[in-house]
Amino acid sequence: MSDALHGYGRIVVKIGSALLVDRERGLKSDWLRSLADDVAALAREGREVMLVSSGAIALGRAIMKLPPGALKLEEAQAAAAVGQIALARAYSEALGRHSLEAGQILLTLRDTEERRPYLNARATVGTLLQFGAVPVINENDTVATTEIRYGDNDRLAARVATMMSADLLILLSDIDGLYTAPPAQDPDARHIPTVDAITPQIEAMAGGAASIFSRGGMKTKVDAAKIATQAGTAMIITLGSRANPLDAIRRGERQTLFRAATDPVRARKRWIAGHLNATGRLTVDEGAVRALQGGKSLLPAGVKRVDGEFRRGDTILVLDETGAEIARGLVAYDSGDARLVAGLRSSAIEEQLGASARTAMIHRDDLVMGRLPTEDAAEESHHAR
Ligand code: GLU
Repeated sequence: MSDALHGYGRIVVKIGSALLVDRERGLKSDWLRSLADDVAALAREGREVMLVSSGAIALGRAIMKLPPGALKLEEAQAAAAVGQIALARAYSEALGRHSLEAGQILLTLRDTEERRPYLNARATVGTLLQFGAVPVINENDTVATTEIRYGDNDRLAARVATMMSADLLILLSDIDGLYTAPPAQDPDARHIPTVDAITPQIEAMAGGAASIFSRGGMKTKVDAAKIATQAGTAMIITLGSRANPLDAIRRGERQTLFRAATDPVRARKRWIAGHLNATGRLTVDEGAVRALQGGKSLLPAGVKRVDGEFRRGDTILVLDETGAEIARGLVAYDSGDARLVAGLRSSAIEEQLGASARTAMIHRDDLVMGRLPTEDAAEESHHAR
């Protein structure tokens, strides 16, 4: 039987508030259990699943029996504080039925935009996945002020998906995909099964409507699709309210697929090649040059010299012993630590820097071989493939 999720190994699922929370009855636990069943089925196949869940404000509101109508910012934040704790517990119980652990991550806009918090968030979520746990992510609503707030989880989920180089982002929504016009307003609206590129026409189809709880609407979903597809992550929008919503996607129930413009690692490498100034230099030995040419990560053991001042996450150049540039990449150490560990094997690094040592100096996914390709050249080589 065909499976619409075939080939996607790393998947982010965004869950909207209206799916999880009923204003009168609170948490929709049956639905959540059916979602957890689907997540567990994917996990058993060896796929990595991350959940970006809304619902903190809506659930907190239901628990505290706050009156209907708009909340002031501090009221919404207080409701989120109550709701988030209940939400975390609900996920942990629902996934626990399948012996899966849930790990809560609360992010602000800043954490996904600034390099250091971004790298830390990425490392933590990556480690949770390595542990076999399911990251359950939401915006940190209780502290996020307007300037540092996403406000909608569609774009947050897209950022998480690109941060984690996911293959697929699924938006479980109150609508089964993109239509040529908002179907509630236009009886002639037609469903669009696949979107190959987000043209101004596609954007115009999105309209602006949102449901009572979610801030989203189709516009933020198309914004999310832009963020995701440009970074190499495909995106599916489908109706989330039925039981076993991920299984429904696999069976081919109505959905819209936004195809990725490229694959995640290539997109990231293009970004490294084209968008950043190099602030430091590493000179590496011949063994390391060969390892890099063979597609390996750069390990500290092969680094002979560290020049310049840089922070973890900066772009730096990699030179061979003649001083020729052979690669550039995002470095995993500050320059001070890089000097301490240069030339050392992994076991010795643990002793120098303590338990938090990261093995690679530059991870292969963060490394681009060759001399300073310009953005145009990178663009061309992409098209030439
Ligand atoms: N972060 C908000 C919450 O958990 C939801 C934002 C959204 O609906 O997109 O309540």
